[in-house]
Amino acid sequence: MFEYAPAPESRDVVDIKPSYGLFVNGEFVDGSGSAFKTINPASEEKLAEIAAASAADVDLAVQAARKAFTTWSAMPGAERAKYLFRIARIIQERARELAVLESLDNGKPIRESRDVDLPLVAAHFFYYAGWADKLEYAGYGTRPLGVAGQVIPWNFPLLMLAWKIAPALACGNTVVLKPAETTPLTALLFAEICQQADLPPGVVNIVTGAGETGAAVVNHPDVDKVAFTGSTEVGRLIARSVAGTGKKVTLELGGKAANIVYEDAALDQAVEGIVNGIFFNQGHVCCAGSRLLVQESIAGELLASLKRRLGTLRMGDPLDKNTDIGAINSAAQLAKIRELSDMGEQEGAERWSPACAIPDRGFWFPPTIFTGVAQSHRIAREEIFGPVLSVLTFRTPGEAVEKANNTPFGLSAGVWTEKASLMLWTADRLRAGVVWSNTFNRFDPASPFGGYKESGYGREGGRHGLEAYLR
Ligand code: NDP
Repeated sequence: MFEYAPAPESRDVVDIKPSYGLFVNGEFVDGSGSAFKTINPASEEKLAEIAAASAADVDLAVQAARKAFTTWSAMPGAERAKYLFRIARIIQERARELAVLESLDNGKPIRESRDVDLPLVAAHFFYYAGWADKLEYAGYGTRPLGVAGQVIPWNFPLLMLAWKIAPALACGNTVVLKPAETTPLTALLFAEICQQADLPPGVVNIVTGAGETGAAVVNHPDVDKVAFTGSTEVGRLIARSVAGTGKKVTLELGGKAANIVYEDAALDQAVEGIVNGIFFNQGHVCCAGSRLLVQESIAGELLASLKRRLGTLRMGDPLDKNTDIGAINSAAQLAKIRELSDMGEQEGAERWSPACAIPDRGFWFPPTIFTGVAQSHRIAREEIFGPVLSVLTFRTPGEAVEKANNTPFGLSAGVWTEKASLMLWTADRLRAGVVWSNTFNRFDPASPFGGYKESGYGREGGRHGLEAYLR
């Protein structure tokens, strides 16, 4: 293998302030909780001090959203669309800055934040801007719900914000959003973009903080709709706490997707899809293809190719444009990945990683494959949320489907075959919200996304995504 010269993206495009307040009623204000710091997970360097919102701060944000709702919901859809189009265009103009900031705060490679996250974020705002004046044709009515309380995770900070805010605003709702504790910076830059777009005060409010702030948003009595993306555990807590309150809820939770490769698949293409399925964003992806189900007849050949390919992945500085695998988002997440991987070995699976240098500072985990995995192993059942692939084999399509569905989750799945009839037969039997064929982790704002079983309920994206925000 030849050496690559470093290709660092410049940090100069971002101006990180030493400290940030909450964004309430169109202004940055102090929080009354105890401030916390956000760090760069690739270096453990402190990036900024972030205000924490107490229940009283959340209350002020909800009040601001409630007040703004009166005018925002009464505004003609075509007028709301103008704001959303304006926000989408500013996101495009400031895409480089947002991408660098996202990579600094999250640890994901700049190649992904620049080429995947940011284009999708802008596309989401453009897409829902287009719906704002056409709600009567969507089939879900035209009456907004009111104030939406939205809580998002750290794996796609700005993209999850777009998934939540764009449809809510298009339908005439106002929002109070809590970003994840470890990745608040792009949401705060988004708040500045709302100011730049002259969005009326109170339509978007951003309250930073930890889990208690999230709970204060979700449990606020004047919130009409709760939208959450995150772990199944917290999703369960939320479902329990809003039961009987009349709040409308959507939950996008965990996954343990099967990526099924049949013996007639185009193998090189499948290898790329497997890599994209589990090593994209360090595997911090709810719909990651974390269980590879490969037909026994080709297992040896496929694994040999996959291992060869993993040997070419470059792990390191997220801001280097040649980096494929960035940093794990937090020490806590790294500990969880280590624990489950150690468990995989203890339970008898065989672990393999390519030789790769681990940087001295920051949180890192090499791309890892487990073979000899049994269905009962924890690494085959639990969401690891890291760059760890569990490989299982099957002999018949029936067995593939049975194994794929043998999980408490049901968010996504992949099928690799050259035979359309087999692909459709399989897709028809998979209990998953999204089934990709001969591709993986492909997103489009026009396509709905969501799960079955413990992966949650409700759909985000597409025309279906409007339903969650209309009465
Ligand atoms: P959480 O589900 O705890 O976090 C998601 C969001 O919810 C964050 O903004 C979090 O705040 C907030 N939150 C936490 N507790 C509450 C609460 N009681 N009420 C309301 N909001 C709350 O995920 P973690 O970040 O703790 O990750 C834990 C595991 O969850 C991961 O290891 C991974 O397996 C899985 N996960 C799955 C995701 C998915 O999309 N499927 C996304 C993220 C995690 P804060 O950031 O301050 O904790």
